[in-house]
Amino acid sequence: MKVVVFSEALQFFKMASALAQSLTEDTVGVFTQKVNFTRKLYLVDKVDEDGLVDFLSSTNFDLLVTGNVRRDRAIASRVAGRLKVGYVPDVTSIKLEGNKVSATRLAYSGIATAEVESSTPLVITVSSFPGEPKEVEAEVVRVELKEGKVRVLEVKRSSGGLSPATAQIVVGVGRGIGSKENVSYAQELASVLGGAVAGTRPVCAELGWLPEDVQVGLSGLRIRPRLYLALGVSGQPQHIAGIRDSKVVVAVNKDENAPIAENADYFVAGDAVEFCKVFTEKILKLKG
Ligand SMILES: Cc1cc2nc3c(=O)[nH]c(=O)nc-3n(C[C@H](O)[C@H](O)[C@H](O)COP(=O)(O)OP(=O)(O)OC[C@H]3O[C@@H](n4cnc5c(N)ncnc54)[C@H](O)[C@@H]3O)c2cc1C
Repeated sequence: MKVVVFSEALQFFKMASALAQSLTEDTVGVFTQKVNFTRKLYLVDKVDEDGLVDFLSSTNFDLLVTGNVRRDRAIASRVAGRLKVGYVPDVTSIKLEGNKVSATRLAYSGIATAEVESSTPLVITVSSFPGEPKEVEAEVVRVELKEGKVRVLEVKRSSGGLSPATAQIVVGVGRGIGSKENVSYAQELASVLGGAVAGTRPVCAELGWLPEDVQVGLSGLRIRPRLYLALGVSGQPQHIAGIRDSKVVVAVNKDENAPIAENADYFVAGDAVEFCKVFTEKILKLKG
């Protein structure tokens, strides 16, 4: 059985590799950095659907596994469509017997799980997988994947360069912050905490107060920080789907009945901007 792993981000390549290792020794990676988590590693300049489809057409694989960042999911679904094989997103556990696959996946924005049965070959995205992959001796082969139609013209990073996908502390901005100007208070707070800023869909995709690559939720990033500070976030299921794996959630909201209260470990009833100002000042004082 052969399992191929790819991702755009190291954290998710590792997570997908850990799942691949739990299934077979015959693991193959397609990645942009030299890492030792698969028996064979195809080192590429970039990962995109055209290149992957071309590469996989000449590779017999049973399972293609990737992470759950937005671009991984977009590539995975397109690759499955182009290769005319099955696609199961948000997998949390999987069993393979012969060419039969039984997978558990998240459903309904992560509030339920569903059991899926399929045959190989299959493309899956991993929602979460415990533990780190083992380091193995990898045969590294540099390959040039077929030039794809999708070209990266510009990479826009969110402030400070720290991504909410990997940060241990994430300050989440919701519409309740009030305005684009007020987002700077959340950015300042994130900066003194050594964390990253993220946003809800309205804030990132509709109002443009933050870049789209920091949107958290069902159609954005799934994050797993030690601390998630939700500022003026109502806490709809589509947002919760992205923060469910956070260790501690602190919510600041004017409305004590906002749904986020049910998903928060600590709830501060109050104004998001005032909270940022007071909390930033207190941390700066503590830091001396
Ligand atoms: C298919 C689909 C996919 C989606 N994907 C995503 C996704 O990936 N991510 C995502 O986030 N959403 C997603 N959504 C949208 C989601 O349903 C919600 O509409 C969205 O999360 C709400 O964003 P919000 O909390 O910023 O805004 P709102 O729902 O408008 O909430 C604002 C909150 O701020 C509070 N507030 C107001 N003023 C203040 C103040 N001064 N101080 C403190 N609090 C204040 C309010 O009480 C309220 O609770 C998706 C929706 C659909 C249908």
